[in-house]
Amino acid sequence: MSRVALVTGGTRGIGAEISRALKEAGRTVIASYAGNDEAARAFNAETGIKAMKFDAGDFEACKAAIDQIHNEVGKIEILVNNAGITRDATLTRLTRDMWDAVIDTNLGSCFNLCKLTFDDMREAKFGRIVNIGSINGQAGQYGQVNYAAAKSGIHGFTKALAQEGARYGITVNAIAPGYVDTEMVRAVPADVLQKIIARIPMGRLGHADDIARGVVFLTADDADFITGSTVSINGGQHMY
Ligand code: NDP
Repeated sequence: MSRVALVTGGTRGIGAEISRALKEAGRTVIASYAGNDEAARAFNAETGIKAMKFDAGDFEACKAAIDQIHNEVGKIEILVNNAGITRDATLTRLTRDMWDAVIDTNLGSCFNLCKLTFDDMREAKFGRIVNIGSINGQAGQYGQVNYAAAKSGIHGFTKALAQEGARYGITVNAIAPGYVDTEMVRAVPADVLQKIIARIPMGRLGHADDIARGVVFLTADDADFITGSTVSINGGQHMY
C-alpha cells in the first residue's frame, strides 16, 4: 500500500530531499511550497512529485489544501512539518511582524496541519508525524529569539501530541537538524559559517539527505515504538 505523505516546504532544500526519499520509500508524496513557482516547477519536472502552493502558516489555506488532497489523492497518513523561515535580528531590532512571520510559519504551520490531519489518522489507527525543529531551538542562538522560540515550541508540541496519538497508533517525533547546506544557511555570512563549522565535531555542514534519512526511518510502518523523541542530526555540534 502506498501511503500518502505531505511534506511542507517540500520543493526546495531539506524538504525536497525528504520528498524524494519518501517517494523512493514507496510513498505517494505531495510537496507544498510558499511562492517559489520556478523551483516548484523544476522539482516537479525532475521528480514527478505533485507540488502544491499554499501558506502553511494560514489555517484556511491549509484547510482548502487538505480538502483538495483528500479529494484528489487520499487521506494523509504521513505528515512532515518542514516549512520554515528565518527573520533574524537582535531583540532591539526585531519587529512584531518578524516575530509573527517566524512563529506562524514555523510553529503555527505544525498546529494547522496536525489539527487538519490528526482525526483522520486517529480513525485509521495509523499516523506518522515528523516535525522539523532545530539545533537553535535546543541551544538558542544570538539574533534568533523568534526562530529559537518557534523551534523550541515545536519540540514541546511534539512531546505533547505524541501522548495524545500513542493510543491510536500515531507517532509524533521531531528532528533537530544542525547546520545543513541549503539556501537558508548560505545566507549566513562566510566568516560566521567558518566559525560554526569549526564547532562541528564531524567537521562539515549537514547534507539534506542526512535529515531525509531520519524522516524515512521515523515514518516507516514498523517504527511504531518511537514517539515523542527529538532526534538530533547535527554532526555532534550539540549533545544532550
Ligand atoms: P529552505 O529555505 O531551503 O526551504 C524552505 C522551504 O519551505 C521552501 O520550499 C519554501 O517554499 C517553504 N516555505 C517557506 N515558508 C512557507 C510557508 N509559509 N508555507 C509553505 N511553505 C513554506 O529551508 P531549509 O531546507 O534550509 O529548511 C527546512 C527546514 O529545516 C526549516 O524548518 C528550517 O527551519 C529547518 N532547519 C534548517 C536548518 C539548515 O541548516 N538549513 C537547520 C535547522 C533546521 P518556497 O520554495 O516557495 O519559498
